[in-house]
This record gives sequence, structure tokens and C-alpha cells, in this order.
Amino acid sequence: MYDIAIVGAGPAGLTAAIYAARANKSVVVFEALTCGGQIINTSHIDNYPVAPHITGLDFSRTLQKQAEDLGVKIEYDEITHITPSDDTFTLTSEDDEYKAHSVIVATGTKPRKLNLANEDELVGRGVSYCATCDGGFYKGKAVAVNGGGNSALHEALYLSDICEKVYLVHRRDEFRADAALVDKVKAKDNIELVLNANIAKLNGEKHLESIETDNGHTINVEGLFVSIGRIPNAAGLVDGLNLVDDYVDSGEDCATNIPGIFVAGDVRTKELRQLVTATSDGAIAATAAINFLHK
Ligand code: NAP
Repeated sequence: MYDIAIVGAGPAGLTAAIYAARANKSVVVFEALTCGGQIINTSHIDNYPVAPHITGLDFSRTLQKQAEDLGVKIEYDEITHITPSDDTFTLTSEDDEYKAHSVIVATGTKPRKLNLANEDELVGRGVSYCATCDGGFYKGKAVAVNGGGNSALHEALYLSDICEKVYLVHRRDEFRADAALVDKVKAKDNIELVLNANIAKLNGEKHLESIETDNGHTINVEGLFVSIGRIPNAAGLVDGLNLVDDYVDSGEDCATNIPGIFVAGDVRTKELRQLVTATSDGAIAATAAINFLHK
């Protein structure tokens, strides 16, 4: 039985763990894949206070070590369901069951897909959702990035240093991304903007050969990096948990409608999804969980 179980070892979950451990609570963090969350896919973080230019990987590794040095246990298991009963929560994975007196949901988000006919078949054969993970396979080649948010522009910039040519395909002629990032992208000679365009077709059987847009362009690329936003990992996790547009409904106090369950990071309803707001949520959710345990 743990005092606090945290689901998700991204910046929000690991920061919550640090706060819980420093308050002498027994704490476990569940992670299905790799510690660090979405930020491990970011090449350089330029907007986190006091750590200019740190890589996403270094940030994650340092955060994980900081938590583990405080005695936080990281359990590599995917929690598929959380069941509240009396003053205990049961966290269920495929093979195991764990118990805790309170829970912090910090499960983050997953990439949104284009939902094109052969998209799934071409994943790993031209279609990717992560430039930092797969960009190296396209050294010296032509690739496309789809999207107009901060993630897409970061991906385009990262790929422009590896690939011969990067087409940035976006459905509008204005970008949702920060102005500073847009300026950097526009200054790159090998990034070509393809605006007011949606990707309508992926051509290629064994491997991606080209993409077709709905405004009549066929672009020959061997790689397509889809970066059109994210979907929260919350649906079906806890019966009765209030969701808004699939995000866990919560205010700045990180409390949910279920006493004892708190939420932190990108999976929460919020205005600004940033690294700094994720770590901030972690601190708030852990403090709220500690106060809940003391009541
Ligand atoms: P995002 O900001 O939601 O942007 C998604 C982009 O994809 C938008 O340009 C959107 O177009 C486009 N899009 C959505 N659905 C589409 C579809 N079906 N077909 C074509 N295009 C589609 O998502 P994100 O870039 O992944 O960022 C997620 C959050 O993390 C944001 O809050 C972002 O600021 C934050 N973030 C911050 C940084 C940073 O360095 N500060 C880095 C990465 C992420 P429209 O603009 O037309 O809606």
C-alpha cells in the first residue's frame, strides 16, 4: 500500500513524486514506456527558467535521477484502470494490482493521427510522429512535417539540420506556434512552407513515396512527420471521473471530482500546456494529495 500512486513519469508526474517524497510519503510512479514523457522528443528546451538550451533528454534524465535519489520507486507497468473504494484506490495493470491512499493522474497525451487510409501501415516506413526519434533515418532526404503548432515547427527545425529538404504543410496561412519559432523556421533555406493545405493521401506501398494535398500538390518525400496536436490519455482510466473534451476536468488546484484523485500536466483541462506548467501542476497536485492524506 502506497500513500501516493502517480500514473505517468513525465515532468508533471516526476515533479509530484519529488514533492511527495520530500514530505516523507511512500510514493510510486507508474510508467508504461520511458520516463520523461513528451519532452524527451524535444531537441532543445529554450523556455524553461534557469536551464536555457537544455536537451529534452538531459532534462528528463536529471529529473528522474532527482526523484530516484529521494527514494521514489518507478514501476514500469501500464495502469489501465483505477478503482476507488472507501479510502483506498486499486490501480490495475494487465498482470498486477497495486493499492494506494491517493492517486495523481499525470498520463499526458498521445499524438493525433491523420486518419488516412494507409497511415497505420506506413508507420515506421515513412510515417512518424516524432522527429527526434526517427529523424536520423532521413539524413540527406526530403521529408514533410504536418502541423502549425509549436511541436510541428520544432520538428521542422530539427529535421532541417538533418534532411536535405523539409516541407512544412499546414492547413492555414497563420501559425499557432510562437512568433519566435515561426521566424526561425522562415529563416531556414531548406524549409518550404506549404500553406492552406491538408494532407489528403499517402502514396507508397512498402514505403512512403509521396504525399498529396487537398489543394492539388504532390510532394515527393520519403518521410512524413505528423504533428497535428495531441489526444489526452484519460478516457476509461477511472469510472466517474469528469472529463471535458477528453481532458480531466480540474482547476488550478489540480483536484478532480473524485476525492483523493488529483491530476497534473497536459492531461488536465488548462490554458497553457508547457513544461513549466506541467512541473508546477506536479507540485500543486502532490501538495493537495499530502493535505488529503492528513485529513
Ligand atoms: P497544437 O498547439 O494544438 O497545434 C496543433 C496544430 O495542428 C495546429 O497548427 C492545428 O492547426 C493543426 N491541426 C490540428 N488538427 C489537424 C488536422 N486534423 N489536420 C491538419 N492539421 C491539424 O499542438 P502541439 O504543437 O502538439 O502542441 C501541444 C501543446 O504543447 C501546445 O500548448 C504547445 O504550445 C505546447 N508546446 C510548446 C512548446 C514550446 O516550446 N513552447 C513545444 C511543443 C509543444 P490550426 O492551427 O489550424 O488549428
